[in-house]
Amino acid sequence: MALTGLDIFKLLPKTNCGECGVPTCMAFAMKLAAKNVELAACPYASEQAKQKIGAASKPPIRLVKIGPPGAEVAIGNETVMFRHEKTFVHPTAFAMAFSDGQPLEELRHRTAEVREYCLERVGEQLRLELALVENTTGAVQPFVDAVKAVAGGTGRGMILMSDNPEALAAALAALEGQRPLIHAATPESVKEVGALALKHKAPVVARAATLEELSALTKTLTGMGVQDIVLDLPADNPAAALQYNTAIRKMALKGSFEPLGYPIINFVTGRDLPSLVADASTLLIKYASIVVLDTLQYQALLPLMMLRQNIYTDPQKPIQVEPKFYPIGEPGPESPVLVTTNFSLTYFLVSGEIENSGVPAHLGIIEAEGMSVLTAWAAGKFSGAKVGAFLKASGVEGQVKTRRVIIPGYVAQISGELEESLPGWEVVVGPAEAADLGPFLKMQVA
Ligand code: SF4
Repeated sequence: MALTGLDIFKLLPKTNCGECGVPTCMAFAMKLAAKNVELAACPYASEQAKQKIGAASKPPIRLVKIGPPGAEVAIGNETVMFRHEKTFVHPTAFAMAFSDGQPLEELRHRTAEVREYCLERVGEQLRLELALVENTTGAVQPFVDAVKAVAGGTGRGMILMSDNPEALAAALAALEGQRPLIHAATPESVKEVGALALKHKAPVVARAATLEELSALTKTLTGMGVQDIVLDLPADNPAAALQYNTAIRKMALKGSFEPLGYPIINFVTGRDLPSLVADASTLLIKYASIVVLDTLQYQALLPLMMLRQNIYTDPQKPIQVEPKFYPIGEPGPESPVLVTTNFSLTYFLVSGEIENSGVPAHLGIIEAEGMSVLTAWAAGKFSGAKVGAFLKASGVEGQVKTRRVIIPGYVAQISGELEESLPGWEVVVGPAEAADLGPFLKMQVA
């Protein structure tokens, strides 16, 4: 049962010493109730408080890590139904599916593609995080050989998928210490597969046909001492998968139903490209922690990677770039000087347009808490005084002969204040849209 801020306050020392980083015990209790801090931040909490608050502040969806220490893929630990309520914390991991029925040569070729796949967007490198090997042959040795080839070839965290506990045991032994995800413990195999998970300290998928069976299965696993569980509830169609995922998330978060408080794995394989993108997108949004795919086609991965990046970007913390001067091309002392904000998308759009124009330039990125130009101006983060102070502190005056700075067209109104704070500089109002920068820069240097 979730404790309110007041319930938690009653259990705290009430001395308001401030050592937890907030001024009062009440403020700390409120943060604790919102799961924004941990009780460990209060050094004076009693044993009784630790027991009661500790149990209540346990994450409703368990954090599960897959892969070797230091290179784990973390999933779960989500606390909200909707991103705008707070944020989603651990992005859906994409797993590429392989089979031990594929020739080793083909596996080597495809694993290299997975390893090298990298999409760069707004300064982030987007990759496939996991690889799954299915024991379609049912035999032990081909499975072990394929698992070794895929693990070595992709360098990714592994999912071992087999109905044969003997094959799982041999593959786990081959990957000792790498904490692969075992797929799967079923109502029939739970004792054997659960024992393997305990022996190898590996996370395990619980797979059942109904929500009731799945709940009973996770209870059996936790009763055996297995803690790191991922849920798999196969569905006949995408609508059913969406319903199951939503029901699981709701029961875990709203109903505090511990047997379903685990991340979910969904398989989006064996379908045409449009269906694959549509189904994977739906499940990525609601509420898959792992999506298994069987294609590396650019047309599928590009939209999925971009959607994931958008969904899992904290709405309270826009993606930002470091505030400083960036040389675009090979600018010299006569090259134009431009300024804009540190919102990542703004930086990449502006720098891209400058690069495309072929006019090398000095691009000054100003700290504006990741806001776009107009928002930053409205919030007082992109005023003439702030831009002037940045230019002075940056040392750009020592690098350029020009004393002319180009500001974004959307904030033409700061030009007067900027000229006052930067004596000797001319302020030029540039275009409002980054797309118009090319012709504008060419005219500036003509
Ligand atoms: Fe209260 Fe503990 Fe924070 Fe001190 S450290 S203000 S006792 S919650």
